[in-house]
Amino acid sequence: MNISEKKRVVVKLGSSTLTHKTGRLNLRRVHNLIRILADLHNAGKEIILVSSGAIALGCGKLRLLERPKDTPTKQAAAAVGQCELMDMYDQQFANYGITVAQILLTKTILENGRIQNVKNCFQRLMDMNVIPVFNENDTVAIDELELEIGENDSLSALVASLVEADLLLILSDIDGLYSEDPRRCGDAQLIPVVEHIDAHIESIAGGAGSALGTGGMATKINAAKIATAAGIDMVILNGSQPELLYDLFDDKPVGTRFLAQPR
Ligand code: GLU
Repeated sequence: MNISEKKRVVVKLGSSTLTHKTGRLNLRRVHNLIRILADLHNAGKEIILVSSGAIALGCGKLRLLERPKDTPTKQAAAAVGQCELMDMYDQQFANYGITVAQILLTKTILENGRIQNVKNCFQRLMDMNVIPVFNENDTVAIDELELEIGENDSLSALVASLVEADLLLILSDIDGLYSEDPRRCGDAQLIPVVEHIDAHIESIAGGAGSALGTGGMATKINAAKIATAAGIDMVILNGSQPELLYDLFDDKPVGTRFLAQPR
């Protein structure tokens, strides 16, 4: 199926896409991005967001110089930042007459029977033409107790599977998957399509993410495995150029597309 035909689209927005290195909002980019997402929504796409940025925005607001390492400070930053994140989405989408809703998940909710409650609520929000914004509930999902998913690439793939999306779109600070690390190797080539995630693909995806977020290419490959196994295509696209979203839905070759496996 062409990308233009895909209707239900989960869009993952990373901290590095939404914020400057200071942890404060990248207003120019956020304005462009939300205008285009609102336009796609108006064109009939069912847009569902998975947004990072709570901890980054919390750090910015609390004037912390780096991402906290201890759990209580991380929780505090997320508690402050999640408000600011939703306030931003609420105000920005309101400019286009679109209502948003917050859904905070934890690993425990995803793994036990209560997930049906989330599905019921999600469906009602879709019926009401609302854009849901998912994030992990970072104030209660604690790493030490192994209760957290920990990064939103994998969370976005779990959400895509939960809502039976047609496409998972991961907006990142890189154009897609490269044959080698483009920050180190000048001749690295962008890989336009990945049909199967094999050992070679896994080996070129190693490495860590940016200073404010938690993801890197490895977590994106993990997300691609979850999404494609659930029969959902996934695309990695550069979030610093929001106009690429139009190219993608015009079926132009942008980013890296991971093909869904037969269900
Ligand atoms: N849930 C985290 C936040 O909102 C983001 C995790 C990630 O960076 O992937 O800050």
